[in-house]
Amino acid sequence: MKADRIALTHVRIPLVEPFKISNGVVSEKDGIMVSVFSDGLVGIGEASPMSGSFYSDDTPDSTWSYLTGTLIPRITGKNLDSIDDVNAILDLAGGNSFARAGIETAFWDLQSKRQGIPLFKALGGTRNSVESGLAVGIYPGIQELIAAIGRYLAEGYVRVKIKIQPGWDIAPLAGVRKSFGDVKLMVDANGAYTRADIPHLRALDDFDLMMVEQPLAQDDLEGHAELQSVLRTPVCLDESAKDCATVKRAIALNSCRIVNIKIQRVGGLKHAVEMHDVCAGAGIPVWGGTMPELGIGGGQTLHLSTLGNFTFPTDVESSLRWFVDDIVDPLIQVRDGKIGIPEGSGNCFTLNHDNMKKYTVREGIF
Ligand code: MG
Repeated sequence: MKADRIALTHVRIPLVEPFKISNGVVSEKDGIMVSVFSDGLVGIGEASPMSGSFYSDDTPDSTWSYLTGTLIPRITGKNLDSIDDVNAILDLAGGNSFARAGIETAFWDLQSKRQGIPLFKALGGTRNSVESGLAVGIYPGIQELIAAIGRYLAEGYVRVKIKIQPGWDIAPLAGVRKSFGDVKLMVDANGAYTRADIPHLRALDDFDLMMVEQPLAQDDLEGHAELQSVLRTPVCLDESAKDCATVKRAIALNSCRIVNIKIQRVGGLKHAVEMHDVCAGAGIPVWGGTMPELGIGGGQTLHLSTLGNFTFPTDVESSLRWFVDDIVDPLIQVRDGKIGIPEGSGNCFTLNHDNMKKYTVREGIF
């Protein structure tokens, strides 16, 4: 595979409601679509940082700069025999995982299109649909939270995830349990608590949760181990799980019983599959998380989530749950609690060029 040229298209789509988590709020979704042209085919990837420093320090601007200034010059025109060759270049460059994921996933799309198989088969998956869970942010009050969950849950999601932070945890959980009975339920703190909160966090055990996601800071694996030792609820790592070496260390420390794998956080699909395999070998189940990405990235996570050790519902939701519109055809849609992957080769969710034009804020060919 040789990238004859690479096109970048930065799109921005308004959210249907602001998304608030413990460390910020956003009302628009930015994504940079990466088109790798090679020998008459085109592979599409997505680099999907959130604006501001919502989830990490990387922003749409820093990701665009890193793609154009560092990664694309190292990739274009090179003879690349395999996805491993692509990853060797990206790993050597290091840095911005969103930018690396954008290029790496475009090459997976290209390769599986060339082979005439859907991406999930290229990754080693066997299913063509994935269970989907609803995720909701932090709301001004419990009534608003309950109303939002009720509104979206009617679409058929098979579990509910609520965001928590100090001062917004036990009361909303009690409200959700009261309103929605024994719905499959989990919480995500995005690292908002500290070890001093461990006695307080023990109360989470009263709510029969599937897991508590990233309760403590990203680098505090020992603190997560301390929490897990006193908590019946499984601890799931998200932000901490930045690479396989860190995940191996977390498993050795008993810091978690579940891992959330995000393609954007680990720099692409190859590293995501490696993380899946490390966890499978250690008996740690995983699931597919999102930023959330637009439809190209969401589609990739669906393909990834067909691998055997993806045991819990994915965070990928219907396109129109978060975004007023999406740039893929067909739109991602939950039906009967699952999202199906369309027939085809590569990602199978393809670019809707009319919508790309409508939401483009910047583009370039390199
Ligand atoms: Mg999370």
